[in-house]
Amino acid sequence: MTQSARRYPAYVGIGSNLQGPARQVENAAALLAEIPGTRRIAMSSLYRSSAFGGVEQPDFVNAVAAVLTTLSAADLLAELQAIEHRQGRERNEARWGPRVIDLDLLVYSSEKIETPDLSVPHPGIGERNFVLLPLKEIAPDLVIPGLGRVASIPVNLEEPSISRIA
Ligand code: ATP
Ligand code: CA
Ligand code: CA
Repeated sequence: MTQSARRYPAYVGIGSNLQGPARQVENAAALLAEIPGTRRIAMSSLYRSSAFGGVEQPDFVNAVAAVLTTLSAADLLAELQAIEHRQGRERNEARWGPRVIDLDLLVYSSEKIETPDLSVPHPGIGERNFVLLPLKEIAPDLVIPGLGRVASIPVNLEEPSISRIA
């Protein structure tokens, strides 16, 4: 009998503001469940928010999914990028510009990772309501290294409005 591999909880931020954003987010969420060695265990509502970063562009739809995975953080990131590619994401798009799909590895187990390709926990969590609100919905008790318990992280009152759409 083989021993079952260790599974790590991970949280993935999903965003889109092109080509039917809500459908793109749902598609990506479905593809997350197909990643080898990975099970999707929770999915937030969908949220709509106006874009930040000074670029005039359509509203974003965002959500957060929780998975249990046997993959390393680096391998999980590679799978997320493969899904982005499959959904037609162009790698040369401007940072924070419009995109058909964006998958960010927000949290991986209780790890802190700082490599050229991967920062975990994702540095935007604490200041982005479109990440915080869905995360509070599905994982209020999650403790994020460096930030503490999700339920106790304050929402950013400076940020543009965000609303739950589905
Ligand atoms: P932000 O990361 O501020 O949300 P973005 O999502 O627009 O910006 P991208 O252009 O999608 O940024 O990604 C740029 C690079 O960020 C990727 O090539 C990837 O290597 C790196 N990266 C670092 N940490 C992470 C992470 N936690 N999740 C996803 N990508 C990450
Ligand atoms: Ca992002
Ligand atoms: Ca990204």
